[in-house]
Amino acid sequence: MRKLFLWLLALGLLLSGCGQAGEPAEAGAFLLDTAVSVRIYEGGGRDTAQAALDLCASYEKIFSRTDPDSELYRLNHREITQVSDELAQVIALGLDYGRSTGGAFDITMGAVSELWDFAAEDPALPDGEEVARRLAHTGWETVSVEGNTVTFADPETVIDLGGVAKGYIADRLADFLRGEGVTSAIIDLGGNLYCLGSRPGGEPFQVGIQYPYEERQTTIGGLPAENLSVVTSGLYERSFTLDGRLYHHILDPDTGWPVENDLLAVSIVSERSVDGDALSTACFVLGLEAGMDLVEDTEGVEAVFITDDFQVHLSSGLEEVFYLT
Ligand code: ADP
Ligand code: MG
Repeated sequence: MRKLFLWLLALGLLLSGCGQAGEPAEAGAFLLDTAVSVRIYEGGGRDTAQAALDLCASYEKIFSRTDPDSELYRLNHREITQVSDELAQVIALGLDYGRSTGGAFDITMGAVSELWDFAAEDPALPDGEEVARRLAHTGWETVSVEGNTVTFADPETVIDLGGVAKGYIADRLADFLRGEGVTSAIIDLGGNLYCLGSRPGGEPFQVGIQYPYEERQTTIGGLPAENLSVVTSGLYERSFTLDGRLYHHILDPDTGWPVENDLLAVSIVSERSVDGDALSTACFVLGLEAGMDLVEDTEGVEAVFITDDFQVHLSSGLEEVFYLT
């Protein structure tokens, strides 16, 4: 696990002192329920950035739980059982993460997450009995993927890929940009960041970790990143406060209600963004201790946990590269 970061540090030192990042070619849009952007520093122009966003929009048509035209919607409504390679792959990955996190990450929380609308003007709590009823129809073990066929053991199970799809899409956009000859870019899918290459001139990008509850630009710390993904799950992201209590969108698969522990945010640093996305959500559910154990046991993955006393907890491979701001 440490290897990756020592290497990164070495590279940072080796190439330091070269060039300054110029004005990037940028395209932005509201996609995947969030503000997304692609900034290309080297190897492509605005058209290429826009083409990457178009690709992002086409993936949304596969993975959206709420869009009636999406492939996942049709699968969830049992209109189809044969799915595209992409959907089969992400569901299979999600199920793998269900297994490796002991069910903390569960893509079948859909029947419960459907009851929440965090974007509503006047948000309301779901009915407790309905949450319990629907929770009985969750469980990643009840879904299987063989080739392109998805099978549900329970007719009421709903798949929600909200905890993993953005990471998968970030990886595909990075592949696309590399294929177009881009050598330096940042893909930002709303808190799901991928740094392609390094800054023009060779210095690594510096990724800031947001100070919980503050504006996006206010950081608590940062780290250098080159060909790396940094994904953050925060309880302040999609949430609302009712009668003095904060309700957020990461659900505890044991209770069906928002996870309650002492975490404010978890950021995962990894080569593949899909791993960072699933693990940031999973670690949030697991909590600091079990989440950190999982990260330490996973090759090539590092983490920053922020607890509600605003303390920063780093995995071993970040100790030498992470800095407070
Ligand atoms: P964000 O959408 O802000 O990037 P996350 O990656 O942490 O946040 O994913 C949260 C989303 O994942 C929720 O909005 C919901 O769609 C889904 N989800 C909620 N709880 C779980 C869970 N325990 N396991 C897997 N997915 C979950
Ligand atoms: Mg996630």
